[in-house]
Amino acid sequence: MLFRSQKTFITNGQLGDLVIVVARTDPAAGHRGISLLVVEDGMPGFTRGRNLDKVGMHAQDTSELFFSDVRVPAGNLLGDEGAGFIGLMQNLPRERVSIATAALAAAERAFEETLEYCKQRQAFGRPIGKFQHNRFLLAEMATELTVARAFTDRCVTEHNAGRLSTEEASMLKYWDTELCNKIIDRCVQLFGGYGYMREYPVARAFADGRAQTIFGGTTEIMKEIIGRGHGGPARTGRSRCAAGGGHAATCAAARPCPRKAARWPAARCCSRPAGPGTGPHPRRPAGRSDPSLARSARPPRQTR
Ligand SMILES: Cc1cc2nc3c(=O)[nH]c(=O)nc-3n(C[C@H](O)[C@H](O)[C@H](O)COP(=O)(O)OP(=O)(O)OC[C@H]3O[C@@H](n4cnc5c(N)ncnc54)[C@H](O)[C@@H]3O)c2cc1C
Repeated sequence: MLFRSQKTFITNGQLGDLVIVVARTDPAAGHRGISLLVVEDGMPGFTRGRNLDKVGMHAQDTSELFFSDVRVPAGNLLGDEGAGFIGLMQNLPRERVSIATAALAAAERAFEETLEYCKQRQAFGRPIGKFQHNRFLLAEMATELTVARAFTDRCVTEHNAGRLSTEEASMLKYWDTELCNKIIDRCVQLFGGYGYMREYPVARAFADGRAQTIFGGTTEIMKEIIGRGHGGPARTGRSRCAAGGGHAATCAAARPCPRKAARWPAARCCSRPAGPGTGPHPRRPAGRSDPSLARSARPPRQTR
């Protein structure tokens, strides 16, 4: 296969020996026309652009990649031809969970450092943490982190059991990364001027964390996915399945779905007829309507 394209913002683009390209191999076949191609370092036509100058995360590179008439042998097709979309669907929740857990961990760490700082730093004769405003801020942060931790632990458990839905993975990514920005911003404020100095970890966390609501699907796209998954009265759990059954966690159909042991049962089994009261399945994994996937799958744009 011969292809030509380019992509901005690729994590580890300078270092990676293998690059998986999401390619439209049959434009007429919709999501069944997407395949994964493995491009190897040294293949003629494959070049790396700049290591992009990011605001934070300086320990990791983010690069541009160029593919100029790269010839990919048939053996470098990852999975079956046309099955690339399924592969992406299966891995998006995992990516969202990993980004979310990293964001929560960063927020928890910044909070711990800030708590310590608030005990030590004196202003007007007392530790800054003793001022009521700051004490309330610390109380709010402690509460928000505790709540987020409970949801995160639940999502990780569900993910490990193969039950985490796309909507929940998106909620987790949205919630933890936005919370991370909010918490670290407050921590910077509590550090005062020192919070803006890169020699302080909280300043670096501020710059590093900012991208988390952007990469792996932006917060707005996460909300799109959650919103679509919650559209209409489908949450009553009375959705119908083309295979004649329901799906354990949220559906209350009479018979178990004969295919529910499939890895992505809802995506494969549930085909709800259009009409009143037939919104999307509440637990449907990323499918045709996952906007972040649609973006991943479309040909990369010319950015400059
Ligand atoms: C550090 C870093 C590392 C990255 N690593 C990778 C990588 O390894 N691989 C990879 O493929 N990509 C990577 N990316 C790209 C990243 O996934 C995209 O930047 C991100 O998905 C947003 O896409 P965009 O930049 O094209 O923004 P745009 O899509 O142009 O979005 C701009 C704004 O419009 C909003 N918007 C767009 N569509 C909608 C909509 N439908 N409804 C409401 N709002 C909308 C967005 O939320 C955003 O606020 C990386 C980015 C960064 C910053």
